[in-house]
This record gives sequence, structure tokens and C-alpha cells, in this order.
Amino acid sequence: MTSPDWLESWSTEEGGRRVRALFAEAFDGAAPDGVWSAPGRVNLIGEHTDYNAGLALPIALPHRTYVALRRRDDDVVRLVSAQAPGETWTTRLGDVAPGAVSGWGAYVAGVAWALAEAGHKLPGFDAVVDSCVPFGAGLSSSAALECAFAVALDEVAGLGLAGDDAGRAELAAACVRAENEIAGAPTGGMDQAASLRCSAGHALLVDCRPGLSALESATRVPFDLEAAGLRLLVVDTRAEHQLVDGQYAARRAACEQAAELLELGSLREIPADGLPEALDALAPHDPDGVLRRRVQHVVTEIERTAQVVDLVRDGRVDEVGPLMLASHTSLRVDYEVSARELDLVVDAATGAGALGARMTGGGFGGSAIALVRESDVEAVVAAVQAAFDDAGLRAPGFLLAPPSDPAS
Ligand code: ADP
Ligand code: MG
Repeated sequence: MTSPDWLESWSTEEGGRRVRALFAEAFDGAAPDGVWSAPGRVNLIGEHTDYNAGLALPIALPHRTYVALRRRDDDVVRLVSAQAPGETWTTRLGDVAPGAVSGWGAYVAGVAWALAEAGHKLPGFDAVVDSCVPFGAGLSSSAALECAFAVALDEVAGLGLAGDDAGRAELAAACVRAENEIAGAPTGGMDQAASLRCSAGHALLVDCRPGLSALESATRVPFDLEAAGLRLLVVDTRAEHQLVDGQYAARRAACEQAAELLELGSLREIPADGLPEALDALAPHDPDGVLRRRVQHVVTEIERTAQVVDLVRDGRVDEVGPLMLASHTSLRVDYEVSARELDLVVDAATGAGALGARMTGGGFGGSAIALVRESDVEAVVAAVQAAFDDAGLRAPGFLLAPPSDPAS
């Protein structure tokens, strides 16, 4: 068998060098005003909970999206990405509106649009992008892209929001609006909070209840894997599944329908010990049991996330494995968003000694994570690779995820 495919992150220097070179090449040898970057994220637990006003617990990856940007005197935006070679994406800021722009530049123009909607005055800009965040792997390359531009525009327009956590929460809200309203992807708020508000050595407890203050909506939880002799292994399954967008929307719609039937603002309002009662109340409206399964996942997942946070705060990281496995089972059986490749990672990793493993991100493909003792990393990687090989699947990508720095 071939050696494992490790997806390495770039140093800040390397990322900066790449985008400066690309900027000069794209814009007639010019120098940018600066270089900014933002990380992808991986969620430890709390999946499909953000749009249910629930809890999630992401960390920032060492893998980042880099942006070199120069402000313009007009309202033109010109964008080049190393991941979309041969194309310059162009718009005028005044032309950006829901439904009016498409393609990858919509994520970027959307951030400028959302900041303008929030009352900030922004210039046009020329910018280039390069990234070592795996694309479409459930590790939030989209939030990394938005958040890198959020901190870049914050600085060139002198908004001063990136300087503190409350300002970063505002930037995160603008990035969520960009993704939902301009790029047209109906995602929750976890990814952008992670990319802008995580910190190295910490996980971020994201609480998506509406009406919380910035500080209440995201709290840093010390998450020192190294000290515990542990590693978080991320496996990009490289599985591509169709109908993913429709499935995500369907899950959201089912949750909204259940909350409406129960006359609740969101499923978050169901306490863990109130679950049986809520399920009974749904039964008459839910002959095939679909709503029952969706609600069961959301309520138990929020509870598991709270339990993981308690263990981590207590310095008992090595005890979260069973909760990770329970999360995976819930996503596979009740929420029905797993995939053969994700299940394969979980089985192979736990069989080779991982303390816990689960799919992460929206599902149907993308990535899985495993919590592994440092001394077992090699064996777990080999077991996952062998399982994919035996199943005739394309080799997966591996990365290690120490909790890393936010957008800067
Ligand atoms: P994920 O966020 O899980 O990686 P998404 O489908 O949400 O997957 O986002 C991927 C999309 O984000 C890409 O199809 C592209 O439109 C955009 N994108 C992300 N990173 C880049 C990049 N470096 N250059 C151009 N587009 C990007
Ligand atoms: Mg995304």
C-alpha cells in the first residue's frame, strides 16, 4: 500500500509568499496593502445543532486561507484564486445583492455587502486567494474564505472590529449573512464563529441561541490535547455525494416543522429530560417517524456537547470518546446524514485503538475525526487506509488538528 496522504498546513510565511506572488502576477506586478488569513475549522461535537439554536464545539485548524488585498478608489472588486485558475471574478459593490451574483466570488462580495448593510463604508478592492484548507471536505473552506476577507476589509476600511471579541462577533455575523444571502448556502453560524473567535489551545463553545450577547454566544474552553498525550486526527474521505444541498435543506426544514408543531421557537427549548414528552406530542403528526428521529438527534446531541464541555473543563479529555461514538451513531441512525466512507473511518479507527471517532461537518461525505493517543496515530492511519483500500475506495487524506489561531 502507498504511504498515507498527509494534507500539510502552510506556515504563515509560506501562505504570505504565495499570495504576494500571485497578487503581483494577477495585477501587473503591484504590491498588496497587506496579507490576511483565516483558518478552516473542525467540529469536535455538536453537529446539525447550530440552526437549532444549539451548541457546537469547533476548533480552528492550522490550515488557512490566505488573502492579499489592495483597496481601490472606486467600487470595483476584482478577485483571483489559485483554486479557480484562469479566471478573474469581477463585480461592482453596488451590483451585489441577494440573487445578483454567483460563483466563488459571491462569498467574498457577500462579506463586503453584509458589512455595508451593517452601516460600514467600504472601498472596492483587488485581491487574490490561496488556501491549504481542503475544499468541500466539511472543514469549512467557505468560512475560511469569508473570514479572511472580513479581517482584510476590516483593516483597510479602518472598521476596527477585529481588535476585540465583540467586534469579531460582528464580523462573523456579516460572514454568515454573506454565505446565506449572497452565496445562497443556508448554513448556521458555527463555522464563522470558529474561524474568527477560536484561539490556539482552545475549543470554542458556540451557543446559537438568539439574543445572546457576543460574549455569551462563544466561550473559549482550554483544550490541551498535547498535554493529555492525544492527537485529533482528521480524515478527509474525499467522498463526493450528490443531492447534498437538498438534504441539508430537508434536515433544516424537518427541524423547523417539528419546532412549529411543538409550538417552540427552536428545538433547543426541549430539555434532555423533556425529550420523551416532546416525541409523544409529535407522534400524531409524524406517521413515518422521521420527525421523531430528527428531534431525537438534535436534543441528544446538544446534551452530549454539554457533557463533552464538562469533561474537557475538568481535564478529562481522554473520557470523551464514548460521547463521540454516540454522536456518530445518532447522526447515522437518527439524522441519516452519514455515508459508507464515514462509517468506515469510525469503525477502522476505533478498531485500531482510537478513543473515539465520528463524522464531522454536514455529512454525506466530507471528513471524520478520531481522538487518538499519540503513540497510536500511525496504527490508526494505517487501519483507515487499509479499510479504504479493501473497499476499493479512493485513498483518503489525513491531517492532524492541534487547536489553532483565529483569523488575523
Ligand atoms: P466547505 O466549506 O466544507 O469546504 P462549501 O461547499 O461550503 O465546502 O464551500 C466550498 C466553496 O467555497 C467552493 O465551492 C468555492 O465556491 C468556495 N471557496 C472556498 N475556498 C475557496 C478558495 N480558496 N478559492 C475560491 N473559492 C473558494
Ligand atoms: Mg462551507
